[in-house]
Amino acid sequence: AASINLVDVGKVYPDGTVAVDGFSLEVRAGELAVLIGASGSGKSTILRMINRLIEPTRGTITIDGRNVLEQDPVRLRRQIGYVIQNVGLFPHQTVRANVGTVARLLGWDRRRISERADELLEMVGLDPARYARRYPHELSGGQRQRVGVARALAADPLVLLMDEPFSAVDPIVRARLQEEFLRLQATVRKTIVLVTHDIDEAIRMGDRIAVLADGGRLLQYATPGELLSRP
Ligand code: ADP
Ligand code: ADP
Repeated sequence: AASINLVDVGKVYPDGTVAVDGFSLEVRAGELAVLIGASGSGKSTILRMINRLIEPTRGTITIDGRNVLEQDPVRLRRQIGYVIQNVGLFPHQTVRANVGTVARLLGWDRRRISERADELLEMVGLDPARYARRYPHELSGGQRQRVGVARALAADPLVLLMDEPFSAVDPIVRARLQEEFLRLQATVRKTIVLVTHDIDEAIRMGDRIAVLADGGRLLQYATPGELLSRP
C-alpha cells in the first residue's frame, strides 16, 4: 500500500464551474478514507484527478511521494483500482474475463490470468466454479459489485478508488457488501479513498472521514469517533 497526498488541489471545469477549491488531504498507507458530501460537492472530481482521468487546475497529488502528473497515465491507472457505481463490467465478456481485464493489459499469460481471476472471485465470495463463466446479466446487482471489486484488485494495485461502490444495490445487500468488504480490506490492506453520500456507510467504513462542502472545500477530516463525539 502507498500513501496518497493532495495539497491545495483545485479544479475549475472549462465552463467555469469551480468543482474543487484548495483541497488538501493525507491518506496514510493502508487507511480507508471516506469522502462524504452533498451531490455536486466535488467528490467524484477528486477521485478522477487522483487517477488522472481529469487534470487538476492547480495543486499537487502524490502517491507514495510520486507526483501523479509526472507519471505515464496508463501505467498510473494500472496501479490504481477503480470501482464505480454500476461497475461498468463488459457485458459480452464472462465474469472471469472481466476480472482479468487489467492482468491481460499487463501481458500476463492466460493461465496465470485465470488462476488469479478465480482466486479473486473466491476472495469476494463468489464461487468460481459457479460464477466464472457467467455473463454480467446473469448476476444479481450485489454480485456484479463483487465482480467489480475483484476486477479492481486483479493487478494488486497500490491504491483503490471507490465511487459510490455500494449505492446501486438494496440496503440489505449493501450492508452485507460493506461488511464483507471490510473483512477483505483487513487482509489486503489497500490504501482506499471511498466516495459516498451515505453517513452510515461513512461511519461504518471509514478510518477517517473527509466532509466536503459545495465547491469541494474540506470542512473536517476526522475519525468516526471524533465526528460522532462533536456537537
Ligand atoms: P460529486 O461527486 O460530489 O457529486 P462532482 O465531482 O461530480 O461532485 O461535481 C462537482 C461539480 O462539478 C458539480 O457542480 C458538477 O456539476 C460539476 N461538474 C462535474 N463534471 C463536470 C464537467 N465535465 N464539466 C463541468 N462541470 C462539471
Ligand atoms: P441478491 O440478493 O444478491 O441481489 P438476486 O435475488 O438478484 O440476489 O439473485 C438470486 C440468485 O439468482 C443469485 O444467486 C444470482 O446469481 C441468480 N441469478 C440472478 N439472475 C440470474 C440469471 N439471469 N441467470 C442465472 N442466475 C441468475
